[in-house]
Amino acid sequence: MKQLLFILVSLAYAGLSFGQIAYVDLENYQREWVALQGNGKPLIGIRSFRMKANKYYLTVDPTTLETSVMADKVLHVYNRDSIQVTKSLIGSVYERCFSIVRETENNLQDAGLNFSLPKEAGINLTIDLCPSHKPLDKDIFEDLLSAFKGLDSRLPVAVSVSGKWMLNHPADLEWLKSLTKKGVKFTWVNHSYDHVFNNTPLVSNFLLSPGTNLNYEILANEKLMLKNGMIPSVFFRCPGLVSDRAVIEKLLSYGLIAVGSDAWLAKGQRAHNGSIVLIHGNGNEELGVRDFIKLLQTESEAIKKKHWTLYSLSEGLEQYPH
Ligand SMILES: [Zn+2]
Repeated sequence: MKQLLFILVSLAYAGLSFGQIAYVDLENYQREWVALQGNGKPLIGIRSFRMKANKYYLTVDPTTLETSVMADKVLHVYNRDSIQVTKSLIGSVYERCFSIVRETENNLQDAGLNFSLPKEAGINLTIDLCPSHKPLDKDIFEDLLSAFKGLDSRLPVAVSVSGKWMLNHPADLEWLKSLTKKGVKFTWVNHSYDHVFNNTPLVSNFLLSPGTNLNYEILANEKLMLKNGMIPSVFFRCPGLVSDRAVIEKLLSYGLIAVGSDAWLAKGQRAHNGSIVLIHGNGNEELGVRDFIKLLQTESEAIKKKHWTLYSLSEGLEQYPH
């Protein structure tokens, strides 16, 4: 009986640990670029904010690219000189990503990480949630969970969220976040706050629309993510995958890595091993979702034998040769 009680109490605690902290009353949210030491390892602070008299940093581990929010009292700031901070990154995975992104920064579409990451078998799944009047396409997640049922304890999925989607779909967002309890490991990707779209050519569309305030698009969306208990990752997905050099450089100045795709399924691009697959989960891309579900069915035997799986972008980049 005592043992049973112990198990039940442990389970209750484990349940609590699934819930991320929501930084509802955050203030003074701003860009930082500082070298920190925390948990015995070097970290980069890319943002800071205050909440209830405490100061927090959004940190990036330059090796794993994992982000976290940490109170300044558990961190040691050892360099605030931006040039020195950038120098301290030389040789790290984070710095390598900066160089990779700069190779395609002049692209009008699909700049940034837009290639297959070397993998044995599987894909990096990215799902975009652009503003939409339609409900979340839950089939993607339900089919994913049923395909991997009993096989993997964690399923990495990168979800690119726009502010306007989050604001208009609170119940869908809660449902999505609850999948953490079922083993989905989310990488929350900034997809801009407004996600402006108009019917003009790409050179003056999306983030290239006249009057776009990129600082606002980045920071307002991150604040909304944190208020909803989602830790912004180091990745940014440009709406429509459209950008120019100035946009990419601005993202880099915020410590953000643009993520493109080499397999936008609805556009007829096929997924290969290591592909960064793009589908839309906002109800507006039936074709892409259908192709993805077909892909899961094609790979179902391989999934069961653990020969085909999902990877997180950070894992792939850690192994990406230079
Ligand atoms: Zn979008």
